[in-house]
Amino acid sequence: MKKSKFSLLLSAAFLTTTMFVSCTSDNAEDGIVNNEEFAAVELQLRAAGFDTSDLEATTMNGVSGYAVEGDIFLTVEQINDISPQLSVENGDVANTEHYRTTNLVSSPRAVSVYMDTAFPAITQTAFDEALARYNALNLELVFQRANGPGADIDILAERLPRNILGRSAGFPDAAGNPASPIVLNNRIYAPRGRNGSIPADAVTVIAHEIGHAIGFRHTDFFDRSFSCGGSAVNEGDGGVGAIFIPGTPAGPEAGSFMLACSNGTDRPFTSGDQTALNTLY
Ligand SMILES: [Zn+2]
Repeated sequence: MKKSKFSLLLSAAFLTTTMFVSCTSDNAEDGIVNNEEFAAVELQLRAAGFDTSDLEATTMNGVSGYAVEGDIFLTVEQINDISPQLSVENGDVANTEHYRTTNLVSSPRAVSVYMDTAFPAITQTAFDEALARYNALNLELVFQRANGPGADIDILAERLPRNILGRSAGFPDAAGNPASPIVLNNRIYAPRGRNGSIPADAVTVIAHEIGHAIGFRHTDFFDRSFSCGGSAVNEGDGGVGAIFIPGTPAGPEAGSFMLACSNGTDRPFTSGDQTALNTLY
């Protein structure tokens, strides 16, 4: 999940941050980008309905790949495996409905989730709350805190650009396992020298990245300006590869936990979010 540009400007006032981090300014830190591969990846992701306006070659947890829509990290192998199967009917699509990926986590099952001990107590508490939010819905996925790494989903600390709150390593695999790991920006969620304060959106950001790991796309992937601000980016026929979840709201749902950008506030599951979660699991 990314910070919305609105919220970035707001927090800049409080943190006396003077540098505005643009969406594409971080490519250089990862060395030479293979332009041919980048172009091919961009085409594949666009065909799968992703907003590629801030596609970036980067690494996550030491693995090379690409970040798309801010917080979805995919290796080239994962990108090659994305197989668009369904097209959304013409004219039938609003901008803020709920979408899932082709693969889902096999259920019913327990999903163990580990949070790195690098995160302080306040973030660990937010993590427990995120799992509790899922479990309160009595889904066929039961989330359990794991005591050590190597869980079904590991949540690790990583230094990310300031406007990136966290990232998920893609979506469930063809075998029905959730994506792992998730990384959270340790500049924000494992703060030093800020009296242990973390933003109010911590529970939502953790729930959001787990959402990707179990197969949720961004609800506003058609036009991320809905939650992210900035210019409208519309991918045209971008429904391919994103499967609409029946029963979710057709109108704008400002509070959805799967909006691409955070406005800095906590966003418990909306009724549309709950319908989507209950439909899939
Ligand atoms: Zn996201």
